[in-house]
Amino acid sequence: MRTAILASQNKKKIKEIRDILIKYDMDVITRDDAGLPKDDIEETGTTFEENSLLKAATIMEMIKSDPVLNDKYHESPVIADDSGLMVDALGGAPGVHSARYAGEEHDFDANNTKLLAELKDVPADKRTAHFVTVITMIYPGGEKLVARGECHGHITSEKRGEGGFGYDPVFVPDGYDKSFAELGTDFKNTISHRARALGELERMLEK
Ligand code: IMP
Repeated sequence: MRTAILASQNKKKIKEIRDILIKYDMDVITRDDAGLPKDDIEETGTTFEENSLLKAATIMEMIKSDPVLNDKYHESPVIADDSGLMVDALGGAPGVHSARYAGEEHDFDANNTKLLAELKDVPADKRTAHFVTVITMIYPGGEKLVARGECHGHITSEKRGEGGFGYDPVFVPDGYDKSFAELGTDFKNTISHRARALGELERMLEK
């Protein structure tokens, strides 16, 4: 069985990705568990594709430049993801800056307050938005799989619901009248941008 290395430390993401890769005879471990340096990877890209590739390529480089890590993981693919919310009336913002929209504290509630304030004069039919996830998987030989998933909907006029994280209280997916936070994580995970990107990755692996 091959071991893939995941750029994220998020436990839920690891489980979601492990459940898929196990079907392709691959286990997943985090960069910390693999013993990689803990250095922050600065997300300097202007697109989700650029940032997920940047994270995956930086980790691959860390492995290749360390003889001990390279000896252990020279056959391991690296997987990284990048996500965010794009609001049409704001020209695609917050986009790749979603986590830090209201400041460096990564404060979800402050991000939502800022977003609703920015949209306060925008009528209901112009509040369209979509979440995006891009997952990049690179192999030691340079081969690369890039899977993108989107979930379209609109931004509410107030925060609704307690579940989920990030922009979930202010996002209503198309076809529903409840926010992601009200719909709950289990249901959200069946239609979310992340679920769709994982589905796309799985289709690519099948080929
Ligand atoms: P990440 O790249 O998955 O860490 O996501 C970056 C930021 O996008 C998060 O900090 C959230 O603000 C936002 N985001 C990504 N996915 C979601 C989601 O499913 N619900 C709400 N917010 C999200």
